[in-house]
Amino acid sequence: MTSTGGKASEAVARAIGALVEGVTFYDLANIAVAEMRVKVAFEEFGRRKKGQLAKLEAVTARTAKDAAVLPGIYPMDVVSKVECYVCGYAAETRAMPNVCPNCGAARYAFEKEITLAKAWEIAANTGRKSAALFREAAAHADAGIRAVLEELAREEDGEAAQADRQLEELRT
Ligand SMILES: [Zn+2]
Repeated sequence: MTSTGGKASEAVARAIGALVEGVTFYDLANIAVAEMRVKVAFEEFGRRKKGQLAKLEAVTARTAKDAAVLPGIYPMDVVSKVECYVCGYAAETRAMPNVCPNCGAARYAFEKEITLAKAWEIAANTGRKSAALFREAAAHADAGIRAVLEELAREEDGEAAQADRQLEELRT
């Protein structure tokens, strides 16, 4: 039945999209921030996302990534652009300049201040949303892929719970 097949591949495309979005978000976040502990946290989150993406890609068709649908669960606007704090010149984070082309300020003028608490908050929120998305996708997916999606959903639950604990610790 074509409608079932369509739903199944749509579900996988959304799940792949959620992971591609996560990898992209954490890459940009890692470039944009200066504070070492936050940088390290984003790097670690990004590594986990890449691992999850590899797991899902291993059981899906090679074309799955091309069909990826970004679900918009990561706050991309927080990290996609950087702004010179001296003059306000905006640049793509991917192309963060070493010197502001407008006022000549050094690279650090573009670095973002994202607190460690904010980083854990993002991890907790996106972890919960990803878990829900993977479960939803699992319900429509074929058996082999379903098992991986369910495993990823459990991982996300665990990571969201861990992020909650870290956040709690920072607040006390
Ligand atoms: Zn500037």
